[in-house]
Amino acid sequence: MQTDALEKLNLKHDLALAIDNNELCLHFQPKVNIKDDVLIGAEALVRWHHPQRGELAPGSFIPLAEESGQIVMIDRWVLEAVIRQLSDWMQAGFEPLPIALNLSLPMFQRPQFVDEVIYLLERYQVPAELLELEVTERVAMGDLDYTVSTLRALKQVGVSISIDDFGTGYSSLAYLYDFPIDTLKIDKAFVSDITHNRKKQGIVSAIISLSITMGLKTVAEGIETIDEKVYLRNLHCDCYQGYLFSRPVTAETFCLQYLVAKP
Ligand code: C2E
Ligand code: MG
Ligand code: MG
Ligand code: MG
Repeated sequence: MQTDALEKLNLKHDLALAIDNNELCLHFQPKVNIKDDVLIGAEALVRWHHPQRGELAPGSFIPLAEESGQIVMIDRWVLEAVIRQLSDWMQAGFEPLPIALNLSLPMFQRPQFVDEVIYLLERYQVPAELLELEVTERVAMGDLDYTVSTLRALKQVGVSISIDDFGTGYSSLAYLYDFPIDTLKIDKAFVSDITHNRKKQGIVSAIISLSITMGLKTVAEGIETIDEKVYLRNLHCDCYQGYLFSRPVTAETFCLQYLVAKP
């Protein structure tokens, strides 16, 4: 217990220096159409190159950062890094694709959040249509009035919104009415093993029907096998993201493999 606590304390201390020391970086995981594997965008996922521990996945520091409040500093860094990256790709002559990023609750709740987004888009001359924000049900269900007005303000600017890990939160479906969202991302917990699990089949089929009725796009997360992909495609899921198509890759690899030069 004691070493655990010490370990956490050490990591929090190191995290405080991570941004100044340039230790955070983004990986990009392609999102593709499920019918033809045509690339439609990517999700930016943060990584931490710890000087002693090597590359750390978000699972080993995001929960800690949420606990300490350092998550806001990370999410602000990610927001600017994504917009800067889009600007760099455009300036280098590539056809840009929409990039999504994940928002924590305290980041989303910042009163200046929408203004920060608008400011950065203007500063880097990036069209808002290239930015997509992923919020979990937990983030969205905080203060409903605030969520609706914030999402509306973002939509008005041209930013698109996804509900991440859909189906894992405890939220009423009624909110889907009021939230101006574009996409539901089906959590990988429901996708893995879907071909053998009747309950998962039922849940995912219901999510996709709901999504179609609401005029939303569905993205399946965590597709690892052809069978899973075929199953989701037959249920009329629109897009997917998963190791089957690609793991998250560095910005350089993403650009080399997936971006095409403007005509
Ligand atoms: P998420 O937003 O649901 O991101 C999808 C996660 O699923 C990523 O893990 C991705 O690598 C993983 N994944 C995608 N396809 C597959 C697959 O086929 N198989 C398996 N086993 N995994 C797959 P990652 O990068 O470790 O991120 C984990 C979570 O950390 C994210 O879940 C998100 O909630 C959080 N996160 C990542 N970056 C940020 C960030 O910049 N800010 C905040 N607040 N949270 C972040
Ligand atoms: Mg996400
Ligand atoms: Mg997710
Ligand atoms: Mg997830």
